[in-house]
Amino acid sequence: MAIERTFCIIKPDAVEKKTTGAILAKIEAAGFTIRALKYVHMSRETAEGFYAIHKARPFFGELCEFMTRSPVVIAVLEKESAVAAWRTLMGATDPAKAEPDTIRKLFGASVGENATHGSDSLENAKIEIAYFFAGSKVAPSA
Ligand code: ATP
Ligand code: MG
Repeated sequence: MAIERTFCIIKPDAVEKKTTGAILAKIEAAGFTIRALKYVHMSRETAEGFYAIHKARPFFGELCEFMTRSPVVIAVLEKESAVAAWRTLMGATDPAKAEPDTIRKLFGASVGENATHGSDSLENAKIEIAYFFAGSKVAPSA
């Protein structure tokens, strides 16, 4: 096991509902350290680039529309095995299928509007962090 960094997005639905603070509190209570944090309103181009892997999926247009409709909060989270730990804390993609007390169960509305994003591998975490925090100083480990 190793200390890792993963990438988190608090999606438009959760920011609109003013649950950003509650979600960040759960993240910190679960032992993550927030190493970078930013409030951004994604352009269509940025969203399409970020979700390029899903380009062929039938929900791609809907997903990019959703992710650009209002601002999101993006963060770099650090913890031992952070990639897996963050996905466990988020819960299943569909909030209806998520475990009790997970973020998507507590704050997600539907499979599309599911409150948060988490990287699915360490390799993708590095790519996603660089995509959104390129050129900015992400705090070094203490
Ligand atoms: P994320 O990548 O956001 O952390 P995930 O890895 O659990 O979520 P993916 O399969 O990567 O799920 O899907 C990316 C996102 O696309 C989902 O979080 C959700 O917002 C949206 N999505 C996935 N499946 C559907 C669907 N059937 N209908 C509408 N939107 C969907
Ligand atoms: Mg995914």
